[in-house]
Amino acid sequence: NRRIVLASRPVGAPTSDNFRLETLAKPEPKQGEVLLRTIYLSLDPYMRGRMSDAKSYAEPVALGEVMIGGTVCQVEVSNHPDFAVGEWVLAYNVGWQSYAVSGAEGLLKLGANPSHPSYALGVMGMPGFTAYMGLLDIGAPKAGETIVVAAATGPVGATVGQIGKLKGARVVGIAGGADKCRHAVEVLGFDACIDHKSANFAAELAAACPDGIDVYFENVGGAVFDAVIPLLNTNARIPVCGLISQYNATELPAGPDRLSLLMGLILTKRIKVQGFIIFDDYGHRYGEFEQDMSQWLAEGKIQYREQIEQGLENAPEQLIGLLEGKNFGKLVIQVNQP
Ligand code: NDP
Repeated sequence: NRRIVLASRPVGAPTSDNFRLETLAKPEPKQGEVLLRTIYLSLDPYMRGRMSDAKSYAEPVALGEVMIGGTVCQVEVSNHPDFAVGEWVLAYNVGWQSYAVSGAEGLLKLGANPSHPSYALGVMGMPGFTAYMGLLDIGAPKAGETIVVAAATGPVGATVGQIGKLKGARVVGIAGGADKCRHAVEVLGFDACIDHKSANFAAELAAACPDGIDVYFENVGGAVFDAVIPLLNTNARIPVCGLISQYNATELPAGPDRLSLLMGLILTKRIKVQGFIIFDDYGHRYGEFEQDMSQWLAEGKIQYREQIEQGLENAPEQLIGLLEGKNFGKLVIQVNQP
């Protein structure tokens, strides 16, 4: 059994020294337990937060503990009457390791032969659910309105934009680089996508939003939000989902304090800004998402791109890259072959 533990807490961007690969004996399940073989490990931006011991909505990973993460596993040995050998499950108690023992609690059954098992980590799982609830419940877009979303080719952003199109909105993506922007328009069907690395980013975003912005789905913060602020319409809604440009920051950005300017704008334009933590706030509504999203996928209305990398040992480097925008699509590590 191989596992990756948190060796030290990062200051700024994580480095490979913050992780340690360990090899142990394969664990043995007791009565009422199963041995899970990890097939896919999800890498997600929130993992940076769990590496830090700053106070947050969730407990940090302890030093020496296995890194947290969602996994799609197969049952290799079953000592539990409800689980058959070979069956697929979604687990949040396995994390960055190739095998783990689990009780039945916390395992979500995915069936004997799911057509796309890894989708449970992305479009049919936590990121897709985040996009669905944040956009529809907080953003509440109306047909003809303009939605802007950054990290536009990632699992959250890509889903936000496509649901926005299904609801009749004009959707403008923001992504890092020409390939990602082309993908957002040509494959995901966004109306436009602007490269945040462009020297004229703010002007290009303004040109792509001639009627202003009604819903800004906040994934990144920082310079992107700066460019969005002057374009916000009266009664705009801002679901605050993530602030990835700040996750590695060790201090506040340089420059004048613009908080009072922003608060003034929120007041005079009656802008709604609302943060959310997906399972804490919306866990009880998972069924609605599951029903709509399976139907949209079956009808070909939602496109989904994954980046599947091989080998547990490569997870640290891939997570470090994710925080710098190196991934293109939902980042997944293939830990074992099915
Ligand atoms: P992605 O796969 O989209 O990966 C993150 C992307 O963020 C990168 O690929 C990069 O895309 C972009 N990015 C990184 N740094 C910057 C930067 N400095 N400026 C602008 N963009 C940057 O991630 P997810 O779709 O999984 O997650 C998107 C957001 O949603 C994250 O902020 C995450 O924390 C949040 N989230 C929140 C949840 C909640 O419950 N509130 C639940 C799930 C996710 P590019 O190259 O295009 O810039």
